Amino acid sequence: TERTLVIVKPDGVARNLVGEVLRRVEAKGYSIVALELRTADTDLLARHYAEHEDKPFFASLVEFMVSGPVVAAIVEGHGVIEGFRSLAGSTKPTSAAPGTIRGDLGREWGSAVVQNIVHGSDSPESAAREIGLWFPAL
Ligand code: ATP
Repeated sequence: TERTLVIVKPDGVARNLVGEVLRRVEAKGYSIVALELRTADTDLLARHYAEHEDKPFFASLVEFMVSGPVVAAIVEGHGVIEGFRSLAGSTKPTSAAPGTIRGDLGREWGSAVVQNIVHGSDSPESAAREIGLWFPAL
């Protein structure tokens, strides 16, 4: 079955939304097959977000992602990559639909980086690459 990498970002952990995010994942019918709380380092985040390295927000994105602990999870289920992105909602919390994680729980904070509570892999290739970065043993 399909796997995706889900991250509860530092804003989500700081706001005590880990349980709420994982509750929604499990309520949807997906399975958590690996789970870890950790503070990542800049090297891991720079590789994770390599596709954005030329974007103006790249440095603030990496700085934000290492600013505190995150929860990384491998989540499994048929169609989970698209399914989790539907649960997450669109990138900007301000315009994300109510009913989604970002739409229900997120807002703008005036930060240089969009703080949107969660990350989910966007393709099977991204999922395999990201799982390899965050869970090299799996
Ligand atoms: P993710 O990859 O984290 O699931 P996404 O696919 O919705 O989110 P991407 O376009 O891949 O968004 O951007 C990665 C992350 O970079 C976003 O989740 C957000 O935190 C941040 N980001 C994206 N666009 C901007 C922007 N224009 N300004 C500031 N930060 C941004």
